[in-house]
Amino acid sequence: MAKQTIRDIDWRDRRALVRVDFNVPFDGGTISDDTRIRAALPTIRYLREHGAAVVLMSHLGRPKNTVVERLRLAPVAAHLAGLLGTPVQTIGVTSGPLAEAAVAALAPGDVLVLENTRFDAREEANDATLAAELARLGDVFVNDAFGAAHRAHASTAGVAHLLPAVAGLLMEAELAALAGPLEAPERPFVTIIGGAKISDKIGVIEHLLQTVDALLIGGGMANTFLLAQGYALGASLVEPDAVGVARRLLDLAAARGVALHLPSDLVVADRFAADAASRVVPLDGVPDGWMALDIGPATAAAYTATILPARTVIWNGPMGVFELAPFAAGTRAIARALADCPGLTVIGGGDSVAAVEQMGLADRIRHISTGGGATLELLEGKTLPGVAVLAERP
Ligand code: ADP
Ligand code: MG
Repeated sequence: MAKQTIRDIDWRDRRALVRVDFNVPFDGGTISDDTRIRAALPTIRYLREHGAAVVLMSHLGRPKNTVVERLRLAPVAAHLAGLLGTPVQTIGVTSGPLAEAAVAALAPGDVLVLENTRFDAREEANDATLAAELARLGDVFVNDAFGAAHRAHASTAGVAHLLPAVAGLLMEAELAALAGPLEAPERPFVTIIGGAKISDKIGVIEHLLQTVDALLIGGGMANTFLLAQGYALGASLVEPDAVGVARRLLDLAAARGVALHLPSDLVVADRFAADAASRVVPLDGVPDGWMALDIGPATAAAYTATILPARTVIWNGPMGVFELAPFAAGTRAIARALADCPGLTVIGGGDSVAAVEQMGLADRIRHISTGGGATLELLEGKTLPGVAVLAERP
């Protein structure tokens, strides 16, 4: 299943048409988080150093198939130029004669950013004519947009059928960190799943139960498992409709011999607020009208003890409402456990990644996934369309 990468191509005098994920957040007109741009730098640098002209394409935001001025990629290109220390051209169109002329004029090492692919209604429709227009802008297609690889769009999948197609270095790293362990993990393989709702992650849990040695559950979704075991959860976030699913997953874990860990204590609060009254209670001690907003210290200690000796750890979903300081301790404990674990540690998911960055532990985690939806789909065992189209290594 190993994919060919940019290292398998002779780039001298060739144009690399690279799909990147420059879908960065803008706050008051400035890029508030450039993680995704930085994540594409190794691929862009490699291509330039090996003699390629680099043509970059990305979507940004949700322009709904039309030109939206504030979603142009020019500010992103300017930021990229600063990071690369080299000029970066923009042309304000995604494809067509103007783009072809600009690409034809590129010299080895030049970098050009095409306009937001989603300005064109044909992008999300994976339209064959747009794919053909894009294919004229490069000799080899490189997919480095892991975060968009779960979408079959013209710039992520369609164009890959028309050119030799290989993975970029970010794509390669994401697949190595996520798909690799899911196929052949070093054991013990421990996963931690949290977040608000069980219903978002049924497929993930189901798939992980096929491979992991232990699955640690936290966050709001733990409440529904506890409800399924007969505990009273007060005013906590629960999904009564998912109690049946929770029971089925508990049975599945038992049948597979997977240790599925649930919290043994909880931090409860009388309101959903940072200044709420709060305390630690056992599972049968949630007062009427109170809500569970974090795993308790005994749970955090038990989870830590399971994580530390693991050889592979994948974590998705915070253990509590970490956005409110009094309910961040569980998430912080898990982040620290991953930071201290010498095995392969991987974190995926928008909020989990934000939590780890906020806690200043990101650089002690082996791999932080740049994908949200794409990461979850990989964890569900799905094949990503933007990956499936890439050439296999012979
Ligand atoms: P990720 O983005 O990492 O995949 P999710 O989006 O699934 O994570 O879940 C993150 C959200 O879950 C956070 O906003 C957090 O506040 C919320 N959450 C976690 N635990 C609880 C809880 N006990 N009650 C309510 N919300 C919770
Ligand atoms: Mg989220």
